[in-house]
Amino acid sequence: MPEPSASKVYIVGGGPGDPGLLALRGAQCLARADVVLYDYLVNPRILAHAPPHAELVCLGRHGCDHVWRQDEINRRLVELAQAGRTVVRLKGGDPGLFGHLVEEVGALRAAGIPYEIVPGITAASAVASHAGIPLTGRDTASAVAFVTGHECNDKQQPLDFGSLAQFPGTLVFYMGVTTVRHWADALLAAGKSGETPVAIVRRASLPQQTVLRTHLAELADEVERTRLRPPAIFVVGPTAALVGDLDWFSGRVLSGVTVLVPRAVRSDDALAGGLEELGAKVLAAPAIEIGPPADWSAVDRAIEQLSTYQWLVFSSANGVEAFFDRLLATGRDLRALAGARLAAIGPGTADALARYRLRADLVPPEFRAESLAEALSPLAAGRRCLLIRASRGREVLADRLRAAGATVDQVVAYTSVDVPAADAETVKQLASGGIDWIVVTSSAIARSLARLYSTDLARAKLASLSPVTSETLVELGYRPTVEAKSYTFAGLTAAIVQWQERHPTRQRPH
Ligand code: SAH
Repeated sequence: MPEPSASKVYIVGGGPGDPGLLALRGAQCLARADVVLYDYLVNPRILAHAPPHAELVCLGRHGCDHVWRQDEINRRLVELAQAGRTVVRLKGGDPGLFGHLVEEVGALRAAGIPYEIVPGITAASAVASHAGIPLTGRDTASAVAFVTGHECNDKQQPLDFGSLAQFPGTLVFYMGVTTVRHWADALLAAGKSGETPVAIVRRASLPQQTVLRTHLAELADEVERTRLRPPAIFVVGPTAALVGDLDWFSGRVLSGVTVLVPRAVRSDDALAGGLEELGAKVLAAPAIEIGPPADWSAVDRAIEQLSTYQWLVFSSANGVEAFFDRLLATGRDLRALAGARLAAIGPGTADALARYRLRADLVPPEFRAESLAEALSPLAAGRRCLLIRASRGREVLADRLRAAGATVDQVVAYTSVDVPAADAETVKQLASGGIDWIVVTSSAIARSLARLYSTDLARAKLASLSPVTSETLVELGYRPTVEAKSYTFAGLTAAIVQWQERHPTRQRPH
């Protein structure tokens, strides 16, 4: 029997931009999607909640091939659901506000397709939270009206500017950038004071958020002068004068700072998350790709003989993940390790073990293979050691342990290959000085970055994870601006923060 939800359509509000501002229910729906049809205003990072097999379809604008018409969207929703696929229709903000909800639901109802609507945080709410502009004021604004600035076609109910000018509260205009002169003049003509405070918030809740303050009389000129582009929202009313007073967002220590993380960033990425929390805009462009080994047989053999090893030695967090995922996939569990001692090359690798509830018995004082070899040699002499490593890496550890009298087997648990070509957007951003920092978390990444971006790398400041990575950068002709004191992502973030605090002339978002 088919599952009752097999052909359901979830109409989900994706929130204003920050991927954290998605309702839990929205994330649950995405997690079961076979297909996601998403609006261009939705932050694509939200799509990370969808399973890997899900088909992701952008419905228009900015980097999409084709802008879908409303009737095409309606038809596709119906077809996909009828084909038994679970569909998420992901919309910007809240689906119930200027979101064509009636058309889409109408098509689903007509076809008898079950659906659910999940609310989202609308842009106006994000203006209140992230620009510090409350939408109501105890003494000044007892009501709030959401108004479309985009009332161009004759099908739409015309706006009654006379009533709007008299409205006893805050007016919030959506989709009002290109039409600003029309609606601002109409409000003035209907008697609204030219002194009425206005705040214009562009890209609310995103690191690129900008806030402009003006008055109704100057509004249209201001929009033209600053060449403001959508998406922006206009708050018209007394509370707009409060911009700045409640702001927690734009003054964070990394606000206005752009950091490139040269690896795939997942929604739970500790490094990206930590930087964003402090206000940084994080760009991700992988420099190396991590994949499974060409052949698992060596790893599988080692797993079968695990009880014969006294030491398991991990030289990266990726190795930890690849090895344990494989161990679990072969039907075993962590008891397969019983008796073996665990060595980790650095604190990041030890943290990866900790995620499997394992404590490293040995982490060398310095984050480098030589230091691990030195610490492990006296303990490994006469013992059998299994080194779990990448397809490329240094031989120094195996050589030194053998020299110290250990029996060493090495298995490749994952492959690491340079991405073949530079990311076009990153090239553009680097050339225009749009990237302040690049975090470099390994020598392999350093080499790949140098090959991909060559001298343009020097246009950004480099933050190195460890002395080994710094040495590689220097060999390649680049001097890191900072190096982490503790060789973890937290250490790397702290090093960038410290530098920024010492150089307060950093760029500001507005
Ligand atoms: N359903 C959406 C609105 C869709 S209409 C919601 O509830 O937010 C699109 C308009 O929303 C844009 O023209 C802009 O006015 C506004 N908007 C959406 N996201 C925004 C953002 N991050 N910052 C400022 N305005 C935004």
